[in-house]
Amino acid sequence: MALIRLSKSVVGEEEKAAIARVIDAGYLGMGREVQLFEEELRTHLRTDKQVVCVNTGTAALHLAVQALGIGPGDEVLVPTTTYVASFQAITATGAKAVACDVTPERVFIDLADAERRVTARSRAVMPVHYASDSSDMPLVYDFADCHGLRVIEDAAHAFGGTRAGRPIGTAGDVLCFSFDGIKNITSGEGGAVVTSDELVAQRIRDARLLGVEKDTEKRYQGERSWAFDVRHQGYRYHMSNLMAAIGREQLKKAERFARHRQDRTRCYLEAFRSVDGLSVLDLDFANIVPHIFVVRVHDGHRDALSAHLREMDIETGVHYMPNHLVEYFSTRYRLPVAEQLWSELLSLPLHAELTEQEQAQVISVVLSYLGRRNA
Ligand SMILES: *Cc1c(COP(=O)(O)O)cnc(C)c1O
Repeated sequence: MALIRLSKSVVGEEEKAAIARVIDAGYLGMGREVQLFEEELRTHLRTDKQVVCVNTGTAALHLAVQALGIGPGDEVLVPTTTYVASFQAITATGAKAVACDVTPERVFIDLADAERRVTARSRAVMPVHYASDSSDMPLVYDFADCHGLRVIEDAAHAFGGTRAGRPIGTAGDVLCFSFDGIKNITSGEGGAVVTSDELVAQRIRDARLLGVEKDTEKRYQGERSWAFDVRHQGYRYHMSNLMAAIGREQLKKAERFARHRQDRTRCYLEAFRSVDGLSVLDLDFANIVPHIFVVRVHDGHRDALSAHLREMDIETGVHYMPNHLVEYFSTRYRLPVAEQLWSELLSLPLHAELTEQEQAQVISVVLSYLGRRNA
């Protein structure tokens, strides 16, 4: 039987044709195609905020932190249960990533724990839209107001969802998407920063092109900068026309992908809502486009269940190992909820081409395994 994949890049003929068009036009770097992708993202999100595309979601987060003027001596509060990218993006600026615990219901930053870790050096909080959910964001903004912090939303999972009736990305301070190959839409690799802070957006536009001031504006007119100034640290983080061409085609498919992910998620929820030995997260499923489908497997059975699924040709994942347990980000304190979840979380296959038959197979293997354990 064919392997049932945990996640998958879903790209096709349209993306191939779009890449061919860029190759034929002969300009692969950053130019008109990136400008169009940024404009189309704004239209898609129904926002007049600034949208700045870069070459990865990690680069988006890194430049967002830097553009807020955060660096050595500063601290950024971040949930420990996230992709290592969130942590590396913070420490890349020289700032300290302060690991916080998460809530058991939504694996979202635990603000009571974050409160204990606020110091005079705290400058920002980076909540992660875990499994695409951001229903607790109003609480994060209250918390940030109260402590005078900026907010960088790691929305790498969350593209296409809504919060309080508005597309994710239209409200808030600084928000970062990822268009990595397996995210809700992809540009091959890629990411974007969305903000209404024009200074922050301009700093990011410059920093993605080695800090060359206003190079973006030149490149969008098909020109280059031969004489310029540089006033900040910059990187080669720009998005290429090739990537943007893929992203533009994916944007046309975004709603279809979203429905597919939502339909498959609904089926998982129906199957698993009241099963002994396993629980689902309490997410805003009516409004999100789930990037991953995560369950908690109780009584120490997670590893055995995932090994059994693998034997049955079903891939699973664990999102994520707590960052405070890796050497580079290790803490002197414990984060008990995240450490408990680390032994329980299991991500089941979910992507825009997961078929009903494949999903039925996943559900049946999980239920029969748990049935035997509980018998
Ligand atoms: C994917 C991801 C990122 C980084 O995005 P890349 O495009 O892979 O660099 C950051 N945070 C989270 C939670 C992610 O899942």
